[in-house]
Amino acid sequence: MIRRVVGFHQDEEGDWVAELSCLHNQHVRHQPPFVERPWVQTASGRAAAVGGEIECPLCDRAELPDRLSTVHTAGPFDADSLPPGLRRTHRIADGTWGCLRVLDGETVLTMETNPPISVSLKAGEGHPIPPGVPHTLSIDGPVSLTVDFLTRDESHLSGSDPPNGVSSATVSSSSAPDMPSGGDSTVRGWQLYKAGQVDGARATFDTILAATPEDYSAVLGRGRCQRHLGAYQEAIADFTKAHELRPRAARPLFERGAISILIERYDEALTDYEAAAILEPAYPGVASYFAELYLYTGRAQRALVLSERASRDEPTNLVHRINIAHARLLLGETERANHAYDAIADLHDPGKGITGAAIALQDLAQMRSAGIEPPGMVSIERRLKKR
Ligand SMILES: [Zn+2]
Repeated sequence: MIRRVVGFHQDEEGDWVAELSCLHNQHVRHQPPFVERPWVQTASGRAAAVGGEIECPLCDRAELPDRLSTVHTAGPFDADSLPPGLRRTHRIADGTWGCLRVLDGETVLTMETNPPISVSLKAGEGHPIPPGVPHTLSIDGPVSLTVDFLTRDESHLSGSDPPNGVSSATVSSSSAPDMPSGGDSTVRGWQLYKAGQVDGARATFDTILAATPEDYSAVLGRGRCQRHLGAYQEAIADFTKAHELRPRAARPLFERGAISILIERYDEALTDYEAAAILEPAYPGVASYFAELYLYTGRAQRALVLSERASRDEPTNLVHRINIAHARLLLGETERANHAYDAIADLHDPGKGITGAAIALQDLAQMRSAGIEPPGMVSIERRLKKR
């Protein structure tokens, strides 16, 4: 579905994110040689892109954007009180999402997304409706339903975590609230980190933090470097500091919990993950954090169910699919695990900058060092290394 670009902000790693009229965000990275978008690096290039059109696959899947809040609930309606306008094909205004909730009975919601969505909803079920998308309710028999209207209330955002977050629709990098707090040198630190120059990145973040110890983005960045360099206690100290700086943000807790898994302190990981998931239930990839913990604590079946559901919800998230493969391996379903690993091996994870095979191999090495070595693991590692 075509949406309009209404502004840009930088995430805390300095990458540019387009804000769309549908309230979704989309990374617009300049990543030569894979993606050439030099215009996104300049204020004039971004200004020229505002008002332009961009394909939004999340709208076609009717995925509710992050951080919306309900501003109004219409209903409950029954078959008699349902306004006639809701039975005809209609649309929700720009900038507002709907969420149909069925309290009792059953209704079929049909939406002109691409491809069209048609879902039958029963009592207790609900479905998001994107702005501006023609949709129809068909009712056959008794029903009770409400429609929530959601939009983004920017006033609640202070102190929240920037990634996938929202800023005002601004183009000027200097006034964007999600501008990494340390400015250009923090962005430089993240660029070094992503380019694999982790020692240089850590030195850059050290320098920033010597001058501005409260720089949240730099604290997160140094934590990541410490983790990468195996300095787990220092990484935990940095993520603890980041948590103190932004107590309502989920990211520091997810990051710290992930370190606890690496040092086999699974109870501490679970405590952090649970606290983080309460703060931000829709945190991107949240299921992958829990799935990984389940994989390491002998609950592979639970990891499998969670990752399969998450993979349907977030089909572009490679980590869910990798966790499905790991869970099958641990469950002794070697053949299905093989297929699952083969399917992800050559895919490229844009966030981590490596292939699915490389991520899976890192995970398997970590499992072995934690004493988890299911039958078939060695042959799968051999297969993945050939990629
Ligand atoms: Zn969208």
